[in-house]
Amino acid sequence: MIDPNLIFEKNNNSISYFSFNNKTKKKELKKYIPEKFINNETLNLPNISENQVLRHYINLSNKNFGIDTGFYPLGSCTMKYNPKINEKIAGNSSFINSHPYSDNNRIQGNFEILFECKNALLEITGMDDLTFAPCAGAHGELTGLYIIRAYFNYKNEKREYILIPDSAHGTNPASASMAGFKTSTIKSDQNGFIDINDLKKKVNKNIAGFMITNPNTLGLFEKNIDEIVNICKEHDIQLYYDGANFNAFLGITRPGDMGFDIVHINLHKTFSTPHGGGGPGSGPVSVKKHLSIFLPGKNIIQENYKYKLISRSKYSIGKIRSFYSNFLVVIKAYVYIYILGKDGSLKTGLIALLNSNYLYSILKDHFKFGSNEHVMHEFVISLTDLCNKYHFTVMDFAKRILDYGYHSPTVSFPLIIKDCLMIEPTETESKKTLDEFAEILIKIKKEAIEKTDLLKDSPVTTPVKRIDDVKAARFPILKYEN
Ligand SMILES: *Cc1c(COP(=O)(O)O)cnc(C)c1O
Repeated sequence: MIDPNLIFEKNNNSISYFSFNNKTKKKELKKYIPEKFINNETLNLPNISENQVLRHYINLSNKNFGIDTGFYPLGSCTMKYNPKINEKIAGNSSFINSHPYSDNNRIQGNFEILFECKNALLEITGMDDLTFAPCAGAHGELTGLYIIRAYFNYKNEKREYILIPDSAHGTNPASASMAGFKTSTIKSDQNGFIDINDLKKKVNKNIAGFMITNPNTLGLFEKNIDEIVNICKEHDIQLYYDGANFNAFLGITRPGDMGFDIVHINLHKTFSTPHGGGGPGSGPVSVKKHLSIFLPGKNIIQENYKYKLISRSKYSIGKIRSFYSNFLVVIKAYVYIYILGKDGSLKTGLIALLNSNYLYSILKDHFKFGSNEHVMHEFVISLTDLCNKYHFTVMDFAKRILDYGYHSPTVSFPLIIKDCLMIEPTETESKKTLDEFAEILIKIKKEAIEKTDLLKDSPVTTPVKRIDDVKAARFPILKYEN
């Protein structure tokens, strides 16, 4: 039976517990710690044995779902399996015990990793300079937008607006607004691409930048990317590439070659750091030469066979985080990139496309899609017709997926497609997993039509049923009630 008590309630005075309130231990402590620093109050800590602690946390962890427990096709987020060897290497005691204040001579190896990883990412993105400072994609966006602002200040120009497609991830307009810009929305055409005519109408000398996710959140590679870039270049609008979907074109093409000025990369999506639950992440930002002087933090360079960190120019946007980077995330990216090499990177990108297109090809005869254009590493299913006809919601459908042992795909995003599921299988899944998942989606569609109540009551197999997401975040009830 599962014990529903919190660990603080599991006080059973086991004979094998370790007591933090032991008086003799306190006496012992006095030998080492000045009296005034010793707490004499009795702490409310559970007196339980080691194996009970272990069981408590292992049981809790078993209630969780992650990429190590099952398929997690969360569109836009790239929840792929990350090789454990990378974790092992990043967890090496030489790395985890080194301190950013260490003497530079003692951490030359760490600097070498930063230097080499920077060069690899510049090669992968086709850009000229890079900072590891941002801790996530959204933090990279904010950094990039500060850089755009600094660029126009430097040129003595005042530009107030950032262009953002209506299919964009919510962080794009949020970051633009945080950086002090106003936003102007570019419409998508009926196929889901950026509407070139709308773009032409909206470009002018008051536009500072255009933030583009490519492939976009419908999983479509912008067919007219050259034209989009040229239209912006005519007005010196800085082109920002949201690199969250890097999986789709890794080793195949490069934002730098497409003409982009700034690119962020989510190391925790594409380059081997598991994510979710708040971190750690890393969102390095790479730029073209003309923006290099505005980069934040310090730069890593190699001089006379030695690596060192040097200050950026006086035009730098300044500091956006402490020290240099989420270093352990950079190590994992470095190992990942070097194990794959150029050929392996290309293969990774191609298999991400193959897996997505394979799944799409099975589902094509059973569902409607957000767009009928050729998909890349992810695609969007539109359930609107079914939902209206059989009176269920996309949430009902998504919750039923949980009962079959999968994490649900992203729902209700992108905002331009109603009642949608956004599916990204990633390159790390087998054909068998994709076949089984497709079969389940088709089965749930049948259930939705024939036994709608099954969907409405789902999930029935998970530790908790439907929770009020908003309330759960604001007023969490951490105690499990039977
Ligand atoms: C995930 C994502 C972001 C934000 O990245 P974080 O690392 O979560 O801050 C931005 N844009 C797109 C398209 C994304 O998928």
